[in-house]
Amino acid sequence: MRASQSSDAARKKRVVGNWKMNGSLAANAELLRACSASVEAWAGAGVEVSVCVPFPYLAQARELLSGSAVRWGAQDASVHASGAYTGEVSAQMIAEFGASFVIVGHSERRAHHSETSALVAGKAAAVLAAAMTPIICLGETLEEREIDMTEAVIAGQLSVCVEVLGLDALAHCVIAYEPVWAIGTGRTATPEQVQAVHGFLRTRLGRAGAGISLLYGGSVKPSNAAELFAMPDVDGGLIGGASLKIEDFEPICRAFG
Ligand code: PEP
Repeated sequence: MRASQSSDAARKKRVVGNWKMNGSLAANAELLRACSASVEAWAGAGVEVSVCVPFPYLAQARELLSGSAVRWGAQDASVHASGAYTGEVSAQMIAEFGASFVIVGHSERRAHHSETSALVAGKAAAVLAAAMTPIICLGETLEEREIDMTEAVIAGQLSVCVEVLGLDALAHCVIAYEPVWAIGTGRTATPEQVQAVHGFLRTRLGRAGAGISLLYGGSVKPSNAAELFAMPDVDGGLIGGASLKIEDFEPICRAFG
C-alpha cells in the first residue's frame, strides 16, 4: 500500500458527496466549479470535501478539481482486476483518473444488484490494492430496526469486512453508516440513534477504531447537519441528494462546530 493511503483514510472531518446517477457535463461543470470555489474560501477549517461521481465524469472531475482542495472518487468498482467482465470498471481504471475514494456496498447496490457483504469486502480489497480509499457503507433496513436487529445487522456486515480485509487494512478505509430507511426518504436518523451505532461500530473495530473516519449518511441537509456532526463518534457525512445543489452542499460542509 502506498504511504498516502493512511492519510487519505485517517480519522478526520469529512463530507463526501454521492451524486448517484445524476449529472450532465454542463451541470457538473457548474457544480464542480462552485464546490471548488466555496471550499477554497474556507480552506483550513480542517474538513476534507470530496465528490463521488458517475464513472463517465471522472475525467471531468479530474480536469476541474485538480489543484483544488476538493477530492473526487467513484461510486463502485469491480471486485476483479481485469478480464471478461463486460460493463464492469476496475479499481485500477478509476485510480488512473486521480480518484482518491470509491464507495462500496451502498445500500442501493446491495438492494438492486444483490451485492453481499462478502462481495462488498472483496471490492474494498480491490480499491485498497489500487491505492485508493474505500468508503464502505453499512446499514439496517427499517424492518431490522423495528425488531431491534440494528446492532446484529451492523456487526454482521462489519465482521465480513474484518474477516476478508483484516483490521490492519480496515484501518485504511472510511466507514459510512447509512440506515437504509433514511436514504433519499427525507427521514433522518436522530443524532442519538446515529451516535449509538457509531459508538458501537468504533468499539467493534477494536484497535483500528480510534483512527477510522465514521460517516453518517441518510437525508443529511443544511438544517440537520450540525447536530449530527456534533456527535462524538460522527466524523462527517456521506451526502446524496443534497450534494447536487451547492446551496445545500456548501452549508453542510461548513456544519462542523
Ligand atoms: C446516499 O446516497 O448515500 C445518501 C445518503 O442519500 P441521501 O443523502 O439522499 O439520503
